[in-house]
Formats: sequence, C-alpha cells, structure tokens
Amino acid sequence: MAAVTPVGRFAPTPSGRMHLGNVFAALIAWLSVRSRDGEMVLRMEDLDTQRTSADFADILRDDLRWLGLDYDRETPPQSQRSAVYDQYFELLRERGLLYPCYCTRSQLHSVNAPHLSDGTYVYTGTCRGLAAPPPNRIPAWRVMVTDKVWTVEDKVQGHYELNLATHCGDMVVRRADGCYVYQLAVTVDDGEAGVTEVVRGMDLLSSAPRQMYLQELFGFPHPEYGHVPMLLAPDGRRLSKRDRDLDLGELRKHVSRETLTGTLAYAAGLIDQNVPISPQELAKEFAWSKLKGESIFLDATQLY
Ligand code: GLU
Repeated sequence: MAAVTPVGRFAPTPSGRMHLGNVFAALIAWLSVRSRDGEMVLRMEDLDTQRTSADFADILRDDLRWLGLDYDRETPPQSQRSAVYDQYFELLRERGLLYPCYCTRSQLHSVNAPHLSDGTYVYTGTCRGLAAPPPNRIPAWRVMVTDKVWTVEDKVQGHYELNLATHCGDMVVRRADGCYVYQLAVTVDDGEAGVTEVVRGMDLLSSAPRQMYLQELFGFPHPEYGHVPMLLAPDGRRLSKRDRDLDLGELRKHVSRETLTGTLAYAAGLIDQNVPISPQELAKEFAWSKLKGESIFLDATQLY
C-alpha cells in the first residue's frame, strides 16, 4: 500500500501575538510533517469574533513566515464557515442525536458537580428528554454522548483514555447565541482539510476524545495526535500570554529565528547543545522519540 502523505496543520487563534508556547507547538507540528515531506495547512480559528481580528491574523502569518514555518495552503477562517457547520449540525439533528438545553450558566455550575480537576464539569443531562421547555428562551444544543472509553495513543503523552459519558456528559455543539463551539468547528475543519495529524499544546489533550467522537459521527477518519508539553519557567511557573516579553512582537526585536529555534529545540531534547539552528536543519534530524514528554523548562532570560 502506498504511504499516505502526512497532512498537518497550524490552527492559531488570532487574538494576539504568538507566544513562545504557540511557537513551540507550531515548530513541532511543522517538523513532524516536513521531516516526512508532508503537507501543512493553516487555518485561523476566529470563532470568537469579539476577541479575534483580521489584523492579528495578518501578524500571525507574518510571524510564521519570520519563523520559517511555511505552509502549502490556508483554508477559510472559521468565522466564514457557519453555513458549512450548519450542515454537520443538521446531520446530527436528523439522526436524533441533538437536544435543546435551556440550562443557565449558574444552573450548570450548581447542578453539575463535581467539577473535574481541569475546571470542567460533567453535564448530568438535565435537559435530555425535557417535556416542557421554558417559554421565550433560546436554547443551546447538545449532542448525546455514549458510554464508551475513547483511547488516544498520543505521540508524546502515550496512552490516554476518556469516557465522555462519565467525564464530560452530553456536549454543547451550538451555543444559544447561534455560535458553533470549538469542538465541532475543529472536527469539521480538520476532517474536510484531510488532516492526518493534530499537534498542539498538552492543554488540549482532553479535547481529543471529544473530537474523535464527532469524527466518528461525521464519518471522518481519526487523525494521529501529538500533544506537546507546556513550557515552564525555571521556577515551575507556566509561561503564559501574560509574559509580554515572550511574545513574538518582543522576541523578534532581540533574537534571530535560529537562536529562538535552537533554544526551544534544546529545551525540548531535540538537539544536544543550545546552538542556533534553522527549522529546515532541525527537520533532517527530527524524531518524536527525542521529544521530552514532561514539562519543558526554559530559561527565557537567556534569550535576551
Ligand atoms: N486554536 C487553538 C489555539 O490557538 C488550537 C486548537 C487546536 O489546535 O485544535 O490554542
């Protein structure tokens, strides 16, 4: 059988400058695909139109160019795809898998205890089979989940499993304001773009089983997953968007892309010495097995 060409993706949210953590995830996504002559797709995840902008999308494209992380095509941004998402929503509705949910935010938080360690709750199905919907209220829509353990053989995190019935409950796919949620949009977009591997931050690991369930319902094959560790400061603090000096707007003023790439690659275990290197050079030696699976400590003060 002919080997399938890997298709990876960058899926940034254009709500600000790229941060070191985003750069790291993008670098690994690119290396994995380019080291096997695969294809890279870019998609702007701008479902939240309040927080995102076309200007930030332009800056993100420029940052990727500066980093040397190229891509073969860009698919339309999520904000322009609601008519497509409507079709997938209808597919679920026709199959009787959706129901309206009228729960308010405070009901959700009081009824659906216990909250899980990641701050999410398990929806207990209050509105499933509701006989009399409250008048004059526009509902959100939930898809029913099944009692099944989903397993992810993650390229970095190894074996991970989650039962959506016990750890998530029926999932919102469309909010009361008509906006589709991330899980639905990302599943449709990755599926339609033919993405074969999803590489992103570790904080999205628990999204993988949610997306696998929707992939199955929509008839898309499951991609491979690689959830890369979060970057931590030497004191163990997570590097976040609040560290303004670590976004690309600042970093680009002070360091070359080779210095930045070398620092990240060394911290992640991809090279033995902290030396400047281009993504192209790094791709020649890339192997998932070299990448550290636990947290990656990065002394960003060394960059300046
Ligand atoms: N848009 C998300 C972010 O910027 C990434 C979602 C994904 O990779 O699935 O964090």
